Amino acid sequence: MNVNQSAPPVPPFGQPQPVYPGYHQSSYGGQPGPAAPPTSYGTYNGPGPGYQQTPPLGMSRAPPSTGAPPTSTAQAPCGQAAYGQLGQGDIQNGPSSSTVPTQRLPGSQPFGSPLAPAVSQPAALQHYGPPPTSAQVTAQLAGMQISGAMAPAPPSAGLGYGPPTLLASASGSFSNSGPYGSYPQGQAPPVSQAQGHPGVQPPQRSAPPLASNFTSPTSGGPRMPSMTGSLPPGQGFGAPPMSQPNHVSSPPQALPPGTQMTGPQGPPPPMHSLQQPGYQLQQNGSFGPGRGPQPNYGTPYSGAPTFGSQPGPPQPLPPKRLDPDAIPSPQLNELPPQQKTRHRIDPDAIPSPIQVIEDDRNNRGSEPFVTGVRGQVPPLVTTNFLVKDQGNASPRYIRCTSYNIPCTSDMAKQAQVPLAAVIKPLAKLPPEEASPYVVDHGESGPLRCNRCKAYMCPFMQFIEGGRRFQCCFCSCVNDVPPQYFQHLDHTGRRVDAYDRPELSLGSYEFLATVDYCKNNKFPSPPAFIFMIDVSYNAIRTGLVRLLCEELKSLLDYLPREGGAEESAIHVGFVTYNKVLHFYNVKSSLAQPQMMVVSDVADMFVPLLDGFLVNVNESRAVITSLLDQIPEIFADTRETETVFAPVIQAGMEALKAAECAGKLFLFHTSLPIAEAPGKLKNRDDRKLINTDKEKTLFQPQTGVYQTLAKECVAQGCCVDLFLFPNQYVDVATLSVVPQLTGGSVYKYACFQVENDQERFLSDLRRDVQKIVGFDAVMRVRTSTGIRAVDFFGAFYMSNTTDVELAGLDANKTVTVEFKHDDRLNEESGALLQCALLYTSCAGQRRLRIHNLALNCCTQLADLYRNCETDTLINYMAKFAYRGVLNSPVKTVRDTLITQCAQILACYRKNCASPSSAGQLILPECMKLLPVYLNCVLKSDVLQPGAEVTTDDRAYVRQLVTSMDVAETNVFFYPRLLPLTKSPIESTTEPPAVRASEERLSNGDIYLLENGLNLFLWVGASVQQGVVQSLFNVPSFSQITTGLSVLPILDNPLSKKVRGLIDSLRAQRARYMKLTVVKQEDKLEMLFKNFLVEDKSLSGGESYVDFLCHMHKEIRQLLS
Ligand SMILES: [Zn+2]
Repeated sequence: MNVNQSAPPVPPFGQPQPVYPGYHQSSYGGQPGPAAPPTSYGTYNGPGPGYQQTPPLGMSRAPPSTGAPPTSTAQAPCGQAAYGQLGQGDIQNGPSSSTVPTQRLPGSQPFGSPLAPAVSQPAALQHYGPPPTSAQVTAQLAGMQISGAMAPAPPSAGLGYGPPTLLASASGSFSNSGPYGSYPQGQAPPVSQAQGHPGVQPPQRSAPPLASNFTSPTSGGPRMPSMTGSLPPGQGFGAPPMSQPNHVSSPPQALPPGTQMTGPQGPPPPMHSLQQPGYQLQQNGSFGPGRGPQPNYGTPYSGAPTFGSQPGPPQPLPPKRLDPDAIPSPQLNELPPQQKTRHRIDPDAIPSPIQVIEDDRNNRGSEPFVTGVRGQVPPLVTTNFLVKDQGNASPRYIRCTSYNIPCTSDMAKQAQVPLAAVIKPLAKLPPEEASPYVVDHGESGPLRCNRCKAYMCPFMQFIEGGRRFQCCFCSCVNDVPPQYFQHLDHTGRRVDAYDRPELSLGSYEFLATVDYCKNNKFPSPPAFIFMIDVSYNAIRTGLVRLLCEELKSLLDYLPREGGAEESAIHVGFVTYNKVLHFYNVKSSLAQPQMMVVSDVADMFVPLLDGFLVNVNESRAVITSLLDQIPEIFADTRETETVFAPVIQAGMEALKAAECAGKLFLFHTSLPIAEAPGKLKNRDDRKLINTDKEKTLFQPQTGVYQTLAKECVAQGCCVDLFLFPNQYVDVATLSVVPQLTGGSVYKYACFQVENDQERFLSDLRRDVQKIVGFDAVMRVRTSTGIRAVDFFGAFYMSNTTDVELAGLDANKTVTVEFKHDDRLNEESGALLQCALLYTSCAGQRRLRIHNLALNCCTQLADLYRNCETDTLINYMAKFAYRGVLNSPVKTVRDTLITQCAQILACYRKNCASPSSAGQLILPECMKLLPVYLNCVLKSDVLQPGAEVTTDDRAYVRQLVTSMDVAETNVFFYPRLLPLTKSPIESTTEPPAVRASEERLSNGDIYLLENGLNLFLWVGASVQQGVVQSLFNVPSFSQITTGLSVLPILDNPLSKKVRGLIDSLRAQRARYMKLTVVKQEDKLEMLFKNFLVEDKSLSGGESYVDFLCHMHKEIRQLLS
């Protein structure tokens, strides 16, 4: 009844699909089974630079090439080179426990009365009336047949669409929806840290140590005791039993040994420039027992000359305490004067992001992360690791701020640690990992709990010999429908559990029945509408010509599913300035026809038949149209544009065609023409730091929210490409993309020669990316907690359903949970995220992700199982939404207070007693201060003088839908030295901390944050290096602001260009390169990204902020 036994097609990833014999996964890039409807996402077949793809079948043309970078002339970036792109995070890998059986929740087995079979919950149904019936249509233009358009007829069946793709009947297809093409290889494997590691230890699956205290770096080379000391018994730190890797019930004060270090004994030596005397920073307990010296900590440890009274040889435990004022400055004697006064704490003595990342890569990057155990903390997002789904969703889909949550709301309030999950429902997986299987239960649809409507999942408990199941979310006892019945084995587990994804995996898909479809009708395939600004600015910059030329080939690469010959997506075209031009590109026409609608106040679509067409059928007409558009408007003098009516028109067209879809808008200017949604220039930097600053982030009219709501109801997603020369009010223009799950791209001062590579790369990825349409996401939880708040690019018309007109693989929703009852340590807490969506081929599906978390009665367990990167993702989104309603300063203060409360609670309840002068950080949160400081000094919360209002609004909305890897690198950029590692080394060079102090003027560095990419060249770089990279004889002849490196045939040039390509491939958006020379004026821009330093806009240095946090914590504790 359930799953089919049809012959498996080519396995998608050439990788054995372990579990389900007899089931096939739909091919990814392979041939679909004969006559089988496409059941998987189409190949991500495009040429997106980072994606290694199998060439799609049936292609007659070469993919548009992203090719080698054009050697466009170097030019200083226009305005802020800054905001262009952000990226998909790194791929990660990591270790995990070895094979662990799927953990089932214990469950009582009460018997309830049999209830009626589960009733499917239909998605929100929308009914649309006919389009408006009057409007003025004028016709104009040469070279085209112009038809006198008439008032539109109500939508009819004959729209030129093919029949809707029918779902597989109850054939029980059980296929892998193998989305997305192959994945970028991501990061190089972790670099061996052998250097300076006397005792390289095997990766451990130990629970992380609880606390990280700052110890003073010892001078003169002796190792820290903690690094060599052996582990004393009874510290609660050793490797826990495999079955409960993170469930360590150690007493709250069970600090890892050696983590509380002290410096020299005795009275503090007089220190220079103590701004806040009395603080005692203890360094880093981070590193577990038996660790060797840390490579990046290594340097400082090996010599801190000012630290006179150092212990000589490594000392055994117990650890000593750090003398309050004995924290040495780094080599004070050698520092320039201004640094002498600035530093009182050695930057190497405070927790290093680089070190933490490196450690995690070394410890967890070698083994797969197996999801069978409840409450496991996954490897960091910066670690490459593989995931094996054994009953919980992969961390690629869901990451949590903590994997062990307090049992009571009192505890949660005390700790102030936000309980949140960052969910990326359609995340891309690397090719080695199986994409979610598609389960077809035929006409009966997915099996659900009668009461709470949760979907069947591995945590449901079958009872009464398999005739009933008890819901793991609400405890309701449900009958098992006869066709789903199966016997239980002696452990109470269904004997077919491992044959059914929904009983054994954390993530899977169900084919939806017609009950889940709008208007109880299976959806038509979606449509794409390209809407091109043809006003003077767009023509003058060459944008229109470039775009039309590109579209001619790009239309061959629309997303398709499972190796389908051609995409099911129909396309349409509109151009506009202050009027709109619709085009009839019906295949039977010899030439395209234009219809002009100038009544923008009452937008309607002047044609139905021939507007949305199949690309292959209408290819000649479309090509002709794209050839003609740049010519038609070549001499335009029209500078004014409209905006809201354009979106309205696209949405009405989809409504008339009764399909979901996406609008691609290419827009250049503030829409000042008389029309709904007309905007005025209200840019006013004087509002910064006033109570009115929030208005800069708010839309200036409510028109766009209303419009967005209509778009969401229609499943109309809007992607916006902006090409502004000046203020365009991004805060207002991005409202519709934001609320419809769309994307915004901004190319300030666009010039074809400088920006075409970046624009075309983004466009190609955006057009080709797999999108789920008309989606609704619901997060269910087990009794005791519930989802209370949501952050991301979506719309909500009630308090539980996240509505997304479109959702792509990069879009992330952050969900916050609160207690509404007491949780139980034994049963833990469960999350189930269900996403109902329409695939690119028009198939209605449900994607389910399940995750089980531990619950604790000891705060220490909470702090031991947190993930700082996820906390920062939540906090950044919380703050970035906060600026809409509160003064920015209030938002910043709130973040600082919350962070201080989190750390003070730890200090008070979990750390061992120590003097108040010590700063003690939980091991899992030792980077919280440095990362939080990066959020606080980001352009949204503390803008520099060069950051425009539009930039801030742009970044604000970008961060809103970032995943954890993206926020991680966005707030703390990666800085890679290029000439330190051997030239033949093929791995990514190890990063260094984002501080000017880490830059050597004899070296070259790459810096990236997912949006920006800089190549910094030190003034003393060897001439040979300069010649090899830039093809000029000396540093002074390097063109500053260069955005393309010359293609030279030498190992260094190849290596650096290869690295740049690889970094770009890891990110969702194309990062434009900017070459920055030391001491050049552009360096100021670059220095903004050295986030450990004091910023020009007043942001604190890491060291200063740590002292600031310590002060806050002390106040809370006193
Ligand atoms: Zn239930």
